[in-house]
Amino acid sequence: MELTIIGHWGGFPKKGEASSGYLLTHNGFHLLIDCGSAVLSKLQTMISAERLDGMILSHYHADHTADIGVVQHALYVGKFTNQYDRTLPIYGHMLDLERFNQLSYKDVTAGIAYKSEEILHIGPFRISFLQTHHSVPCFAMRIETDGKALVYTGDTSYFKELEDFARGADVLLCESNFYKGMDGSAAGHMTSEEAGMTAHQAGVDKLILTHLPHFGDLSRLKDEAAEQFTGEILMASEGLKIII
Ligand SMILES: [Zn+2]
Ligand SMILES: [Zn+2]
Repeated sequence: MELTIIGHWGGFPKKGEASSGYLLTHNGFHLLIDCGSAVLSKLQTMISAERLDGMILSHYHADHTADIGVVQHALYVGKFTNQYDRTLPIYGHMLDLERFNQLSYKDVTAGIAYKSEEILHIGPFRISFLQTHHSVPCFAMRIETDGKALVYTGDTSYFKELEDFARGADVLLCESNFYKGMDGSAAGHMTSEEAGMTAHQAGVDKLILTHLPHFGDLSRLKDEAAEQFTGEILMASEGLKIII
């Protein structure tokens, strides 16, 4: 599978860039993971929204969902201008029914609930879930296909079970919204040091730091994670492609 970083900023997008959005492609199937602010604009530099086969959301904070409404509008307009004749499934949890219900729009998108205790199959992907420690219900995802595994943490503070969940993954796409020495637990976010610890304890192959902060020297995040994890570490950046 191929992972492309569309947006990687925590909280809100940096000027000219996007907040959380990741495109996962395998055998021509396009799954969008999270749909934050400016994600549609950036996605269209890669593929049109009409080529998406599915969308899945970790949680309903705006930096992960702000562009759902405009994706719905783009597809709706496409029904008239491009003979777009599909209904895009948007997978989300049902722990916030008001937000879940907004995933369905006309015959353009259809909200589909995932449950943390059930395996979800979307196209070629097998997806399992783990609820994280965040200020609203949020789920980490383990996405597997062809013997490869990507684990995306969503938003979370550090907790031990995440290591078991990420065990042996080829890639850990891990939030790192804080620097070493800070306490992210109240905000529901991890530090660079905790991201590195999680990658090390889980024995993953590669760590990608994402959901990056708007303060401090970002290169420190990688150095601090590298004190804990000796494998390859990448900083998420717009357009970065990883073959998994
Ligand atoms: Zn976030
Ligand atoms: Zn959040």
